[in-house]
Amino acid sequence: MSEKLMDFEEAVRRYDPVLGLEVHVELGTATKMFDAAPNAFGARPNTLVTPTSVGLPGALPQVNAQGVEYAIRIGLALGCRIASSCRFARKNYFYPDLSKDFQTSQSDEPIAYDGALEIELEDGSRFTIPIERAHMEEDAGKNTHIGGHDGRIEGAQYSLVDYNRAGVPLVEIVTRPIEGAGERAPQVAAAYVRTLRDIFRALGVSEARMERGNVRADVNVSLRESPDAPLGTRTETKNVNTFRGIEQVVRYEISRQAAILADGGEVLQETRHGQADGTTRAGRVKSDADDYRYFPEPDLVPVAPSPQWVEQIRESLPEMPAAKRRRLAQEWSLSDTEMRDVVNAGALELIEATVEAGTTGQAARKWWMGELARAAKDQEIALEDLPVTPAQIAGLQALVDSGRLTDSLARQVLEGVLAGQGDPEEVASARGLEVVSDDGALLAAVDEALAANPDVADKIRGGKVQAAGAIVGAVMKATKGRADARRVRELVMERVQG
Ligand code: ADP
Ligand code: MG
Repeated sequence: MSEKLMDFEEAVRRYDPVLGLEVHVELGTATKMFDAAPNAFGARPNTLVTPTSVGLPGALPQVNAQGVEYAIRIGLALGCRIASSCRFARKNYFYPDLSKDFQTSQSDEPIAYDGALEIELEDGSRFTIPIERAHMEEDAGKNTHIGGHDGRIEGAQYSLVDYNRAGVPLVEIVTRPIEGAGERAPQVAAAYVRTLRDIFRALGVSEARMERGNVRADVNVSLRESPDAPLGTRTETKNVNTFRGIEQVVRYEISRQAAILADGGEVLQETRHGQADGTTRAGRVKSDADDYRYFPEPDLVPVAPSPQWVEQIRESLPEMPAAKRRRLAQEWSLSDTEMRDVVNAGALELIEATVEAGTTGQAARKWWMGELARAAKDQEIALEDLPVTPAQIAGLQALVDSGRLTDSLARQVLEGVLAGQGDPEEVASARGLEVVSDDGALLAAVDEALAANPDVADKIRGGKVQAAGAIVGAVMKATKGRADARRVRELVMERVQG
């Protein structure tokens, strides 16, 4: 079914979009949130399960302290206040991957609330996202529908359930309605989730791998006539786990809802599902009166982090990614644009590691954004997957800095390193690529070239110093580019004039 759409530019001219993002992150704790089953990805189905993971009768949950600490870290990094005491609640609903018939979550007592996060868009402009709350909960298992279309249950012959993920700790971060993004709404939504992803990694609370579904966003979008009008009816597109997908969903919903409103229609409050082609399709109609019968979890005591513990966690927070980028840009003397390119190329950590291994930011950037970026592109792999380490790049640059390699020799050595021939030193000596710095060897080559070009020698003697270029060229050729051209020129002049 193709839906009527309004051109995006026209839609954002006529209507004011409002966003709401609910981001789930799976925490990288050793064990699950309420039981001792290992928290791991990719194990054989239903091998990481205890009676508590699947809610067998009589099984009792226990709170994972590491999970609570990670939730507090996230809350603090997002500028939230941390509750001095908060409870878990049962969110009751039925689904085959939720065999307990309720999700242990937090309802009106989240562990963290009232925060804000400043994000930076690709053009360098800043935007502040108001955060309502961050609460702890658990993931459900995973259903797989076999035999249907696109993994959907419609038309499937049978379904499988894997409970390995049941009980994996989650933190859900909910924004307040995000107003004022206007035409930038799609980029704001994607940049917000990207910023969160970077923060989760910096905090060490999650590997935050989008492709594994470690980070998933529910994307709420509504339109209203103007910024002073009351909020319009929203749709919620569930479980979007790529940045591009988030951007597309916001764009599509703005165009779709604008077409409905312009026709005098009403937007339905419904759950929608993002499609691979960047559109969304309707799911179930949802009302605010959805009743999950939340009630306090009777099997768990309240979580009451002491102020001392919270302060200790606050003091141990690492530098946030945005601040770190600003600091490194300054230390490495990179412009804002250069830094943004580095970040977008996924080269920041590699350059940082290369600098730590002993070279300058500029030199490290030149390699990773130049020769190595090209190699990665040719091989169609990510920079970090190239078979070369930051230490090897630092070693290569050291050979250039000490005059043992010219830039062009260094590029040849790098080829050898990428081909798995060893460290730069080894490749340089195995392939005989080092600069000939021994004057004796160079002088022999200079004499040979002068003897072969007696007329040039005469010209130089006659005052035409530029003519020396021909001799330097001949020496470079004879040494296969391994000579330092400046030193060769000096030797030529000594020979001819001396
Ligand atoms: P639910 O429990 O149904 O997911 P919430 O009240 O938690 O609903 O809201 C979901 C998200 O949508 C929140 O980020 C909230 O700020 C946002 N939101 C609420 N109303 C609107 C609206 N009219 N337009 C856009 N976003 C909204
Ligand atoms: Mg929701």
